[in-house]
Amino acid sequence: MTRVVQKFGGSSVADAASIKRVARRIAAAKQAGNEIVVVISAMGDTTDELMDLALEVSPQPAPRELDMLLTTGERQSAALLAMALSDLGVPARSYTGSQAGVITTAAHGNARIIDITPGRIVRSLDDGDVVIVAGFQGVSQTTKDVTTLGRGASDTTAVALASALDADYCEIYSDVDGVFTADPRIVPEARRIPRISYEEMLEMAACGAKILHLRCVEYARRENVPVHVRSSFSDKPGTWVTDKDDTEKGTHMSDMEDAIISGVAHDRSEAKITIAGIPDAIGRAAQIFEAVARADINIDMIVQNASRVMNGRTDLSFTLPMSEGRKAIEAIRGLQDEIGFEELLYDDQIGKVSVVGVGMRSHPGVTSTFFKAMAERGINLQMISTSEIRISVVVSADQVDDAVRAAHTAFGLDSEGEAIVYAGTGR
Ligand code: ASP
Ligand code: MG
Repeated sequence: MTRVVQKFGGSSVADAASIKRVARRIAAAKQAGNEIVVVISAMGDTTDELMDLALEVSPQPAPRELDMLLTTGERQSAALLAMALSDLGVPARSYTGSQAGVITTAAHGNARIIDITPGRIVRSLDDGDVVIVAGFQGVSQTTKDVTTLGRGASDTTAVALASALDADYCEIYSDVDGVFTADPRIVPEARRIPRISYEEMLEMAACGAKILHLRCVEYARRENVPVHVRSSFSDKPGTWVTDKDDTEKGTHMSDMEDAIISGVAHDRSEAKITIAGIPDAIGRAAQIFEAVARADINIDMIVQNASRVMNGRTDLSFTLPMSEGRKAIEAIRGLQDEIGFEELLYDDQIGKVSVVGVGMRSHPGVTSTFFKAMAERGINLQMISTSEIRISVVVSADQVDDAVRAAHTAFGLDSEGEAIVYAGTGR
């Protein structure tokens, strides 16, 4: 018997009719002889609405109580789905994260899964039930309080359960057909990627591809869980995230085999800080980034230019999540006297465009192809960073779309004509 974990995002269970539709889909998979564990997100925008409500009641809600509130969203959809399944003659039982044995750290709002003790789930499966688990939540090992795992983290619940239950694979259902070579809203010629390695998917997720949660991909890679990203609105195959080249599952690369670049990702959520006129002395960069780290800010790219010959000073730029901009500026401004830099500049009119692909390991010239494509469109590169399988550039915000299109074309990723129907948000 095949054991499958199926995760349905909020857009797939937005109202009563969609809950019934998803139930029919699950029933069909169950009747085909599979053992099914379903992980469910809150209906539609429920989590956002609960968050807004909390902020109306209290400007700074206690994190413990916020988690008590937000976890009710997934609890609603889990119970409703169990009812719909049972009406179809399919025995089903819903469980909260805590009941399902999802044990986490105590960090409210951003807890990490430490362990899963799925005893109740296994017993329920043995009884022949479809098991439904409320995603995005768990219970703290130390405080025994209910926790949430961070926005969008139902994906992580699903992969973690798939691993704990030794499932054959994990299906992540949303309203898009899979992972694409670029965001089809920007590049209509983008194509679905039939299979992508964990490593590439990690880079894509870290570079702004929103289809899968970064932590979920990390988990899947570590535990070697094959993940099938697909649409709950169609029966089309989606994208397999796996290192296995398994032709039976349709995960073989076929026509994508010789693509050097798997995809182009973009991210508009970052800002750039430049500290100009830093005395070029040992230890200054360490001081600056110590202050930024103390403020608990994750930075991304860093560029330091050569010392200006005339005055022995240097400029340092780095990118960070836009949402942390104010905090970072305050932290660095506090160092101005101590370090003696001249100017502090903040720019959130930027975007990051990245090309990702394991093929670049063995193919020279990827960088020049990428940069030439940018130059031909008159796009100025403000910052550059690379990993073994990724090249990222920072460009001005209004050139992001253009840069994505140019890179997609330059690496031969454009499909021939056949437009892709794309409406969703990927959640
Ligand atoms: N409902 C939660 C959120 O919107 C978790 C999820 O959808 O994965 O962030
Ligand atoms: Mg959601």
